[in-house]
Amino acid sequence: MCGIVGYIGKRRARDYIIQGLKILEYRGYDSAGLAVFDGCGKINCIKRAGYVSQLESATIGTEGNCGIGHTRWATHGAPSDVNSHPHTCGKFTLVHNGIIENFVSIKSQLANKGKRFLTQTDSEAIAVFLDDVYDGDVIKALSAALKKLKGSFALAILCKDFPDKIFVVKKQSPLVVGIGDAECFVASDCMAFSQYTDKAVYLKDNEIGEVSSQGIKLFDGNGNRKAVKIEKTATEYFAPADCKSFMYKEIYEIPKAVQYTAEEFFANDEKKLGVVDIFSKNDKVVMIGCGTAYNACLVGKNIFETVLRVPVEVELASEFRYKNPIIDDKTVVVAVSQSGETADTIAGVRLAKSKGADVVVITNVAHSSITRYADMVLHTKAGAEVAVAATKSYLTQILLFLCVATVLSDDLKSVAAIKKEIESLPQLTQKTLALDEQVHKLAKEFCKKQSVFFIGRGLDYALALEGTLKLKEVSYIHSEGFASGELKHGTLALIDKNALVIAVVTQRHVAEKTCNALHEVQARGGKVVIITPFEKAKNDVECDAFLQLPSSSGLIAPMSAIIPLQLFAYYMSIERGINPDKPRNLAKSVTVE
Ligand code: GLU
Repeated sequence: MCGIVGYIGKRRARDYIIQGLKILEYRGYDSAGLAVFDGCGKINCIKRAGYVSQLESATIGTEGNCGIGHTRWATHGAPSDVNSHPHTCGKFTLVHNGIIENFVSIKSQLANKGKRFLTQTDSEAIAVFLDDVYDGDVIKALSAALKKLKGSFALAILCKDFPDKIFVVKKQSPLVVGIGDAECFVASDCMAFSQYTDKAVYLKDNEIGEVSSQGIKLFDGNGNRKAVKIEKTATEYFAPADCKSFMYKEIYEIPKAVQYTAEEFFANDEKKLGVVDIFSKNDKVVMIGCGTAYNACLVGKNIFETVLRVPVEVELASEFRYKNPIIDDKTVVVAVSQSGETADTIAGVRLAKSKGADVVVITNVAHSSITRYADMVLHTKAGAEVAVAATKSYLTQILLFLCVATVLSDDLKSVAAIKKEIESLPQLTQKTLALDEQVHKLAKEFCKKQSVFFIGRGLDYALALEGTLKLKEVSYIHSEGFASGELKHGTLALIDKNALVIAVVTQRHVAEKTCNALHEVQARGGKVVIITPFEKAKNDVECDAFLQLPSSSGLIAPMSAIIPLQLFAYYMSIERGINPDKPRNLAKSVTVE
């Protein structure tokens, strides 16, 4: 996963590198490092396990105008000082995002030639390989690397023979070069340099770049020069300022995020026609995603099946890509990825394309890798989402499913009703945020629980799955989500006086059923919390806590109900002394398999 950066120009490279790495820490944060030319041809390389802030204090006073940096999410080799990037061999020092799948065989070939390895990483094999094939021509060495390396990689490389250049190359991992005034920035995500320039070159797979303060020269995989296309970036980076954390700030941005997403969608007639065109020429719909995006797809399926009465299949992208899915040129695959860089989802999209399917991508990042394979891109306008736990992006993904349904439905009456509700969403979500204090109290009361269950039926079941994922991610509490009718088929055996069960009850036709399940929980001594817009549920179950949602219709209610679940996860994390923005073992943008 990891974030890579690089700088060449008139500034102190170290300052941009540290600042850029802090912005990219959402991509990984188990260790960090940088390498900078000192102005006399020597490369200073400093790296260590821990956050970028630790690297920051260790690199004060590092001079030089050309350098690279890395914040890591370890895939191969423990997050130790030695395994941190950059990795050096001979004249080459590099940072890597991705996985080299054939590193074992590359290492053994090089070891047979007498080369030595210092780390357990796959990445070091690249540095050693480059050093081995290098004959004074870096582009040629990188062409050879492109042919040799299997897997995914974005690389930023320093070569001692060229102290005023950064070499870059990519395959399946993102890499963008920001073009400034006599300076250039390298990054995994343009957010890292958005305060300096909005001009950028997005590298395509198998392209090689030679970056200097004057711009970038591009080469194809065989080392032939290519034309450079400079694009305008859009992302802005917002620091959490006086906010408690990014996760908290981003939950509070939900009302704006849903407003902007709906406005953008409905203002674009061409896009709406495109949606009609793409869905009407296909007769099968498959939705794919990972984690929260998958959970949004579950809600999307429910929306499509309720509003349009068309069957929808939902698949985890990581399963879809390896299952030889039954899709063809009459299938539309809707792929959802907040970052647009999720490796499994991108692989699913590529597979869908290879089988002739049309692909609609829902993403929050305009120039992300996944958009390059899409027949149509629908943008969530959630703004930059930095916290590892997805919050506002989940709601905007669901909202786009609703928006698409309004365009595809020919039931004018229900379309008008849904549109009215979409208009009311900013207000509805704002009102729901008023539950904040009550949720905080709940978290204080229950933060020592070892196990928390979320239950619901229909759409509420999809929400229960998202509630449980949020809690696991940021509080490390064991948690499971269940369809409430399923409790009695096994899980009820886990319920005793230590269990906490949180029920989401927003679907009127099954509300009583979920309340019945809660009685079964209480009969076994379990604690019960209800989240619902229905006041009546309070009379139906004597619960331990009751969170009253503002009233709304069945299809919109889940978007309000998820807010207390997100806040609950956030406060549980805080009460347990965890940084919700940097949960252990995770990273925001899962660019590896
Ligand atoms: N595979 C490399 C490592 O484990 C890079 C991982 C990353 O992309 O953060 O060091």
